[in-house]
Amino acid sequence: MAASSRLISRLTLVTGGGSGIGRAVCQRFASEGASVVVADRNEESANQTLELLSRDHKGQGHLALGVDVSSKDSVEKLVTSIQFMCLSCFLAAPPSVCVNAAGITQDEFLLKMEEDEFDKVIEVNLKGTFLVTQAVSKALVSAGAVKGSIITVGSIVGKVGNIGQVNYSASKAGVEGLTRTAAKELSKFGIRCNCVLPGFITTPMTDKVPEKVIDKLTAVIPMGRMGEPAEVADACAFLASDDSRYITGISIEVAGGLFIG
Ligand code: NAP
Repeated sequence: MAASSRLISRLTLVTGGGSGIGRAVCQRFASEGASVVVADRNEESANQTLELLSRDHKGQGHLALGVDVSSKDSVEKLVTSIQFMCLSCFLAAPPSVCVNAAGITQDEFLLKMEEDEFDKVIEVNLKGTFLVTQAVSKALVSAGAVKGSIITVGSIVGKVGNIGQVNYSASKAGVEGLTRTAAKELSKFGIRCNCVLPGFITTPMTDKVPEKVIDKLTAVIPMGRMGEPAEVADACAFLASDDSRYITGISIEVAGGLFIG
């Protein structure tokens, strides 16, 4: 539950903002005062998120835009259009907060996975994170911004692996390495980069998982339940805010104790 106005006047870009965790991040950030750009390849769902966002803080405004994070051209157009978009609250500036939440799965066992199933997941989850992180940080550096926070939604399976997800777990391990490196390179510009690693969260992505698999998973989660998107959003809001001002290059697990050892 939002308890403060920590994100007032923070222009925030959320990819994958049309659904699940990304949508919850948009809602949480708006409730804390941020102006939010909801970006998703599904523009209809991005617009649905837009309708849900609170506008209780002075100067706050939100926007929904389409993007394919796996396309450099599409990402560059997105970041450029945000900077030049004329909304009363947007000061022709790049977003000082970015949450990379766009992601896909295409599950198959290693022995059966096709090359294109592997490539597609890497393109969206890993290359997409690279393209968005690069475009946003370039824009912040060019604008002479004094601070920024880039948060990437990884996954606990990037650390421990998961049967049937060789592509997905590789992509999520990759975003942690990318984030640690970006943190080292961008600290001198005041830009912090961190990951949030959800365990199993109730979203359209996990709706695809058969119920008997969910039951088995839930049984091994120490807290005994799946997580909620809002619980991931809480960790993202902390990493976006000045409450985490001396934190960069880390990963916060939001997994109900799953795989703690
Ligand atoms: P979700 O409900 O499926 O939301 C993902 C959103 O990203 C969807 O709106 C999707 O659009 C969009 N998207 C997919 N490819 C895109 C692209 N190329 N460009 C722009 N947007 C794109 O899934 P979620 O569970 O909220 O997942 C959000 C993030 O959390 C993902 O990175 C996921 O890997 C991560 N995560 C989720 C869980 C979990 O248990 N749910 C656990 C760990 C990590 P479409 O609807 O058109 O596909």
